[in-house]
Amino acid sequence: MKLTEVIKNAKKPLFSFEILPPLKGESINHLFDAIEPLIEFNPAFIDVTYHREEYIYKNHPNGLLQRYSTRKRPGTVGICAAIINKYKIEAVPHLICGGFSKEETEDALIDLDYLGVENVLVLRGDAIKSEGSFVPEPNGHNYAIDLLHHVVNLNQGHYWGQEKPDNTGTNFCIGIAGYPEKHFEAPNFKKDIYYLKQKVDAGANYIVTQMFFDNQKYFDFVKTCREEGINVPIIPGLKPLTTKKQLSILPSIFHIDLPSDLVDAVEKCKTNQEVAQVGVEWAIQQSKELLNFGVPCLHYYSMSKSEAVKKIAQGVF
Ligand code: FAD
Repeated sequence: MKLTEVIKNAKKPLFSFEILPPLKGESINHLFDAIEPLIEFNPAFIDVTYHREEYIYKNHPNGLLQRYSTRKRPGTVGICAAIINKYKIEAVPHLICGGFSKEETEDALIDLDYLGVENVLVLRGDAIKSEGSFVPEPNGHNYAIDLLHHVVNLNQGHYWGQEKPDNTGTNFCIGIAGYPEKHFEAPNFKKDIYYLKQKVDAGANYIVTQMFFDNQKYFDFVKTCREEGINVPIIPGLKPLTTKKQLSILPSIFHIDLPSDLVDAVEKCKTNQEVAQVGVEWAIQQSKELLNFGVPCLHYYSMSKSEAVKKIAQGVF
């Protein structure tokens, strides 16, 4: 079922979470082990991230370095099909522009349609780790909105490079990303919201936010969106802190701020077990406040680890 319908029909706020495909060579059972403890909370959907290729370097005896391109976490499409088949839960694949030609993207969408996947989260994706900025494929999409147009066209039966009027269209419900603290490349918040609105006007059905640790950022973001005429559901994304290192890693990777009270509490912890406890308590407080605000769904970035998210769900749902 389309997420917008799931949200419309829901009698209470929904629970959902995001997982990562296993590293290449790991069993999918590791993923099932991370999903199963969360099934009792009736997840409305499970997001599955998409990972672009990375470069790895190999030393040769002659002193030369050889560069290889590899996708470390393949399998998003297959995992979505496995989740739907095994748990009868909606699985939402993330689709990214980076690393894909338009034809490859379309093939993936056709596979997803055949597999009964009805929801996709369309994203641009980040730059390759060793490259400073995002570079689209020569025949790929540049921004998430270009990929969004592609999915909207498919929904209307217009396939890439085909002029056939009687095609059967796909029927995807389309999600996009939103940034309560601004996307790091946007020159300012206003411009970022302007591009977000463009995506909604082009047919995006709902927004999932980047993680945030200060609810006021989300409240302000929703207010601005509504003032600008963005009226689709805005699902907050929450991540429980689990290690001290994340105090520097999360701001550097996700370009977000961590509130002083949280940082102080984490700095006082002697072990990562204590940090995880602080992280869970913080996320429970955030979740309860967001529920009072009236969010349609609480979405957790589990990183394919269920322990912290399970404790939060026990405290909230
Ligand atoms: P866009 O909407 O294309 O925006 C990128 C930047 O360009 C922004 O600064 C925006 O303001 C600007 N912009 C947008 N449109 C235009 C335009 N027409 N002209 C000029 N500027 C424009 N990454 C992955 O690789 N895999 C994942 O699975 C994944 N999942 C994610 C899930 C969520 C919920 C979120 C929030 C992020 C996720 N990301 C993922 C990261 C995401 O791909 C990056 O944040 C990426 O840098 C931006 O993606 P976007 O879809 O917001 O891009």
